[in-house]
Amino acid sequence: MQRYPRKKTRQIMVGDVPVGGGAPVTVQSMTTTKTADVDGTLAQIYALKAAGADIVRCTCNEKEAAEGLARIVPRSPVPIVADIHFHVEMALAAIDAGVHCLRLNPGNLRKPEEIKLVARECKDRGIPVRIGVNAGSLDKRLLDKYGEATPEALVESAQIELGLFAEVGFEDVKISVKASRVPLMVEAYRQLSELVDHPLHLGLTEAGPPPAGIVKGTAGIGTLLMEGIGDTIRYSLTTDPVEEAKAGRTLLEALGLRERRNVDLIACPSCGRAEIDVYRVAQDAQAALEARSIPLQVAVMGCVVNGPGEARSADLGIAAGRHRGHLFIRGEIVRVVPEAEMVDALVEEAEKLVKEGFAARLAAADANASKEAEADRLALLGDKGGDANRSEARVELINRRLAANPEG
Ligand code: SF4
Repeated sequence: MQRYPRKKTRQIMVGDVPVGGGAPVTVQSMTTTKTADVDGTLAQIYALKAAGADIVRCTCNEKEAAEGLARIVPRSPVPIVADIHFHVEMALAAIDAGVHCLRLNPGNLRKPEEIKLVARECKDRGIPVRIGVNAGSLDKRLLDKYGEATPEALVESAQIELGLFAEVGFEDVKISVKASRVPLMVEAYRQLSELVDHPLHLGLTEAGPPPAGIVKGTAGIGTLLMEGIGDTIRYSLTTDPVEEAKAGRTLLEALGLRERRNVDLIACPSCGRAEIDVYRVAQDAQAALEARSIPLQVAVMGCVVNGPGEARSADLGIAAGRHRGHLFIRGEIVRVVPEAEMVDALVEEAEKLVKEGFAARLAAADANASKEAEADRLALLGDKGGDANRSEARVELINRRLAANPEG
């Protein structure tokens, strides 16, 4: 039920998520944790995914953040965008970390040669870029020319940057021209959309806390979406980013741009630690839970080493380890079942959870479950070691690059 015809844009891929070119409008948010805090950031990424985010951005502002990204990306359930300000070395380190997209701010990463260097690297490695113009950090030369941040100034900033990308023949670029005033932001996007066919990332910056932040964001983003403008959106709220993802998802559903959800199945992407075929188990679980209209967030996780912790924001989940499935409710292990019975056990527990509620099902947990789960977790750590994803090799690469150019 597409009610608002969409302006045609070219398509880019952010990891496995298409943006533009007729793809469903996607929801983005940004973590508020230190990116160096790998477990905390992953837990927030999972919570954002469960709340409706399709793509998540993390800051890459220092060496430790780049190292964190090397460890986060292989375990993230959604594509990761690295947010880059000022330092070209951080852009290159984020690329080394394996991120799916970079966000560059033309207002503070200004040297053409540096921007082209990053563009060339991205082109070679097939990593798209968001040109993220922001009225609050507009290039001084444009402020001098226009007197203040006008729609024309925002658009010109994006076009100058786009020109540098075009010089190296790189077109996998999406663009944002954000401002904190709704009329300025709306007009800038309208003008930009007339001039380029690149996918547009909509957002109002510094919108503030809810409810005013949500109202302002909806006024700007909703207006543009109803004009067919915009391929991916982010609410910028001064609160838990889960609220941003929820607001984004709710707006898209309200406008008929995304389907309403029944079960919200989240699954890890699978990585070097996976103990099962995550895709198959997730597909089977999705089909069984959808058929029963289970209105829960349910997680399928490839390993017990990280799964229950990463997906602790889900209502219910299962993680695999040593030919067994560990069932967990909001991060608490409640039962351990044979691997062949994982999907059945998940569906049975989901039905009971809906009928009996969380307190009753947590009270009915098998008393030995968490002990058995811990034994499996330790055994797996012993089998595969601490670096099953070879993240440390990437960290080494980042260290070598930054050691070679310590100025950043
Ligand atoms: S296999 Fe384990 S560590 Fe890897 S992504 Fe899945 S849950 Fe995370």
